[in-house]
Amino acid sequence: MARRLGESFWGDLYGLVRAVARAMKVTLINLIRRPVTVHYPDKTRAYPDRFRGLLALTYDKETGEENCIGCRLCEYICPPQVIKVEMLKAEKRNFAKTFTLELYACEFCELCVQVCPTDAIIMMKSFDLATSDRRELLLDKDRLHALGLQFEPSWATGNRLRDMQAPPKAAKAEVKRKGEAKESGE
Ligand code: SF4
Ligand code: SF4
Repeated sequence: MARRLGESFWGDLYGLVRAVARAMKVTLINLIRRPVTVHYPDKTRAYPDRFRGLLALTYDKETGEENCIGCRLCEYICPPQVIKVEMLKAEKRNFAKTFTLELYACEFCELCVQVCPTDAIIMMKSFDLATSDRRELLLDKDRLHALGLQFEPSWATGNRLRDMQAPPKAAKAEVKRKGEAKESGE
């Protein structure tokens, strides 16, 4: 009996030493490995072109006018209903009288960008809006425009996304030809 107890003690000790040695090996490997993190915000990483970051509103580069025409398509498509737009009717074109976006509840699904007919709402290559106060993430029109000027835009705009998803031109032409042939009874 005494012999069995002694055996189990040395066996346990051996197991313990092996486990500590294995853990120390992992620690040593990680001590000399190059870090995978960067010291944000002093150092930033290059984001991919299709990065889905902060949402922003844009101005027309040529005229300097707001691109948003207040059509409310983004409001209707938004799954969590975080966008609210009021349209302002004007003589030549319409505008957004008010535009609010509750970024704290946004799903970053990009649907609002996809439906926008005038490329007025886009996503930026940044998520740099951390705050401890939720109210700061309720973005109004001015803040959304300011974000559009502050950060680099991502690739996606409504027109680009729709072009990308449209059927190839040859397929479109074939559909049109078949439609015309059907109409003329060929
Ligand atoms: S990205 Fe999606 S969830 Fe966020 S505002 Fe646009 S439609 Fe709404
Ligand atoms: S951002 Fe685009 S989709 Fe939304 S209201 Fe303005 S024009 Fe319409």
